[in-house]
Amino acid sequence: MILQIYSKALYSTWVYYAPERILFDAGEGVSLTMSNRIYAVKYVFLTHGHIDHIAGLWSIVNTRNNSMGDREKPLYVFYPKGNKAIEEWLQFIRKTSDDLRFELIDQPVSAGERIFLRQAGGFSRYVVPFKVRHTGSDPCFGYSVIETRKKLKDEYKNLPESEIAKLARTLGSDAITEIYEKKLLTISGDTYGIDPQDAKDSEILVHDCTFLKVSDRKMNAHASIEEVIEIAKQANVEKLILYHISTRYSGKIERYLKNIKFDGNFQLMYVDPESLFTY
Ligand SMILES: [Zn+2]
Ligand SMILES: [Zn+2]
Repeated sequence: MILQIYSKALYSTWVYYAPERILFDAGEGVSLTMSNRIYAVKYVFLTHGHIDHIAGLWSIVNTRNNSMGDREKPLYVFYPKGNKAIEEWLQFIRKTSDDLRFELIDQPVSAGERIFLRQAGGFSRYVVPFKVRHTGSDPCFGYSVIETRKKLKDEYKNLPESEIAKLARTLGSDAITEIYEKKLLTISGDTYGIDPQDAKDSEILVHDCTFLKVSDRKMNAHASIEEVIEIAKQANVEKLILYHISTRYSGKIERYLKNIKFDGNFQLMYVDPESLFTY
């Protein structure tokens, strides 16, 4: 299991990325649904301060604090720097949890910053926040999980294996390879639509798709299906997962998707607002 997602627009949204134990957002019911797997969470990244994305944080802190398990492990909470709603909420949680038995480390982050998850030798994995358009003046972020990888430099690409092995021996492997960044996962958070560059070549893009019909949208705060497909195409992602879908489409999602002109070169999946999504 790589991802577990619950997302029902207006009510609750959270995305659990198992390989790095990251919870992106913490909507209501997250502890209840994840049950004892909630203790596995190491990092929480909040996209913005709307209740449907942060209400479950208090419960996570409380559940972990009162469990019999591994409660001495710290919990990191990252959020967009200057987001007042989240700052107030964190202050409240701290005030009402004065007997915390684990370290609650909250840290505001800025767009473009690298938050390192692991680093060993030439390998590293980190999260990079990016700004998205949503509502209000409080900053709203999306996040990408990025890994550094090595590849042969272009000038050596077409050489036979034996030739490459020889060069590696004589010049050293560092001289014939270069490091590049690979996006493993991009989460949009709530948005009218991300900049495709922020998800460029991502293996998985999880994107707001509150509206399956653009005419249902009254305010420019959330995305609709045609735009999301266009963004995924431009970003050249491998998999697109639609989330934050409005309950008005419950039971009719397949039908709506059938009517969409879909010519993307990626796999399309969606999070039904009535059920838990696992991938
Ligand atoms: Zn929302
Ligand atoms: Zn929102």
